[in-house]
Amino acid sequence: MLAKILINTSVNSLNKVYDYLIPEELEPEAEIGKRVEVSFGRGKELTEGIIVKLETEYEEPKYKLKPIESFLDDISYIDEKRLKLAKYISYVYFCNVYDALKLMLPPGTKSKNSSKSLDTRKDKRVILIKSHDDIMQDIEANVVKSAKQIQLLSFLMYNDNVLISDIIEGLGISRSVISTAQKNGYVDIVECEKQVDFLKDLNVERTKALTPTDEQKKVIAGICGYIYDEEYKQCLIHGVTGSGKTEVYLQLIENVLNQGRRAIVLVPEISLTYQTVERFVSRFGNNIAILHSKMTVSQRKDEYKRIKRGEVDIVIGARSAIFAPVEDLGLVIIDEEHDTSYYSQTKPKYSTKDIAAYICKEAGAVLVLGSATPEINTYNKAINGQIELFEMKNRAADAKLPSIELVNLRDDRIMGNTSSISLKLKAAIEENIKNHEQTMLFLNKRGYNSYLTCKQCGYVFNCPNCDVAMTYHKTNNLLLCHYCSHVEKNVSICPKCGSEEISSYNLGTEKLEEELKEMFPNISVLRMDADTTVARDSQAKILDEFKNEDVDVLIGTQMISKGHDMPNVTLVGIIGTDSLLAMNDFCASERAFSNIYQVSGRAGRSTKEGRVLIQTSDTDNYILQAVEHNDYNEFFDKEIEYRKTFGYPPFIDILLFEISGQNLYDVKQNAQILYSLLNENNYNEYRVYSPKSPFIQRINNRYRVNVMLKAKLNTKIYSSIYEKIKIYNSKAKNNTNLIVTKNPTFI
Ligand code: ADP
Ligand code: ZN
Ligand code: ZN
Repeated sequence: MLAKILINTSVNSLNKVYDYLIPEELEPEAEIGKRVEVSFGRGKELTEGIIVKLETEYEEPKYKLKPIESFLDDISYIDEKRLKLAKYISYVYFCNVYDALKLMLPPGTKSKNSSKSLDTRKDKRVILIKSHDDIMQDIEANVVKSAKQIQLLSFLMYNDNVLISDIIEGLGISRSVISTAQKNGYVDIVECEKQVDFLKDLNVERTKALTPTDEQKKVIAGICGYIYDEEYKQCLIHGVTGSGKTEVYLQLIENVLNQGRRAIVLVPEISLTYQTVERFVSRFGNNIAILHSKMTVSQRKDEYKRIKRGEVDIVIGARSAIFAPVEDLGLVIIDEEHDTSYYSQTKPKYSTKDIAAYICKEAGAVLVLGSATPEINTYNKAINGQIELFEMKNRAADAKLPSIELVNLRDDRIMGNTSSISLKLKAAIEENIKNHEQTMLFLNKRGYNSYLTCKQCGYVFNCPNCDVAMTYHKTNNLLLCHYCSHVEKNVSICPKCGSEEISSYNLGTEKLEEELKEMFPNISVLRMDADTTVARDSQAKILDEFKNEDVDVLIGTQMISKGHDMPNVTLVGIIGTDSLLAMNDFCASERAFSNIYQVSGRAGRSTKEGRVLIQTSDTDNYILQAVEHNDYNEFFDKEIEYRKTFGYPPFIDILLFEISGQNLYDVKQNAQILYSLLNENNYNEYRVYSPKSPFIQRINNRYRVNVMLKAKLNTKIYSSIYEKIKIYNSKAKNNTNLIVTKNPTFI
């Protein structure tokens, strides 16, 4: 038997398939989509490939075919449909077909090439067995001295429970570093992580469908019409916070199942919590597979197998669950569709909504997007008729929308109040405490970390490997880089001017907590920010504590904008809004609006009426005005006008070519090559901007340079760019990497 095999190689230009022989004894196992090991090129190392075609009758080739060595998978996850999808992805995002196929393999399926010495098919993972405080103390006290040990431990504090191979590859350390940490009692290597098995531990009572409200009824009936047609259709449910979108999803799924078809539900990673899953399980039992990055690789593989064997009808997961091998797909739901986690940040940088639309088109399925603050691009399509629009303007279950007020900080300044909490907010908190109701204080900050600076010369303590300031951990006097895990200890002198006057900067939430406790000495306060949520699950724990216990105020950053119903929260205070309104890219206002609006939506989720106070010095700002009026459309109308005037999506498409590598000179030169190529024979069909460094120029010693292109993309332009990238790949120096993003949300 002859097999056409796509080889996994990092050489950009190779998307070709090669012929191999399947020895007779292996023929029964041969199947399209299975990964194999073959010898390729001159090296002795075996290379991984995927069977894309099998031929029993073929012409004897002129040269002798090499046989495949072995199969790497016991079942195949990739069929003809998925191959087609991979080709589509490689076309749209200008990447290798193999890179696209990797998205469809079960999570944790590592390519053999990337970790030669390790058996990655076993799920060996590294976990921390000492508390973060203990580790920090040991580092501080020089009990842990070696730079590699510190690097490993600090990495694990931010990413606990990681595959050994990922650590070795990602940090560039040897396995002995891990063994040493194990010997010294800091980490343990486990075969299979102890984790909540969402379904097994869930002992939930079954619920029946609620009687839908009139608004819900209309939406359900409308979308069900499309579901019965078994044709592709994209719908947007624009429903205010608490309007009962989830109940609509549940009833839509019920209808799809009754039709003998299946559904995929995508939620933002951060909202994939026990509570979310519970709502689905209580309705549908364990006819559900869950794909969560916090499950072990083997658990996820098991879920993939259940899905592949057709044992479940509903798949719930974050972004990558869109690639789950679901047959007879009738419905895909993307909840909180405005969430930026639906854009992949690694190669290929795909848009989950685009992929979902493609998959639904192929399957004749309905794609439902839901949000209280849809992406500008999505809503624009909806009012242009490309997406069917459904509106839900009222909260379900008798809850009213909160009243929203802008608080002008200039008034406070006139009154001489210098605190971050305005007099009005102070009075409201006081009243809330009296009434035993809960308050959330939301600090709008983009960077919610603290940095160290020199008071004398203004020097900022940056990471030596990245162009970012390191985060300061006050309690342990440690500086840590969140991008590459570099650590510095006990900093006391400015390396630039020798001054000892060093101060921490920007620790907003901590300062806010101090001020609040000064104002109200006897209240209990919880704080949720990057510092208090280092450990996995700590976020959920803090939210649970807030929900269940006698806590008056929760202070937090963006993190608290997502999450559960908190019936006792009647006051939301939004502080530091002005910094969020400072624009630095074209999507900033969209993010600001959705952030502020979503946080406001945390108030008054039950029968108790909610109140939101937004502090600002810019009460005329159009974003805040729209939030105050609880009016998404007011914001949309202004924003779309702005996009039109200044030439941004959805009126034009952006392709961002990111070139990265360790040698800045090569990176710049390759960017120049690409820039020139794109400009060749360009008859004003698109506009290319000269190479530019992004905001963070260097991460983990890799430099980055971007080339941006704006165009009304069509197939002709696409093909011409495709050809140019092929030429680029043959001309450019090989030691850099090219990633293309279509309509990026950050520039
Ligand atoms: P959303 O997803 O739009 O924010 P949810 O689906 O979480 O809203 O619903 C908000 C609250 O309203 C939940 O507590 C939910 O149980 C309740 N709810 C939703 N639909 C109904 C209904 N038809 N009847 C009674 N309560 C409902
Ligand atoms: Zn200095
Ligand atoms: Zn760094």
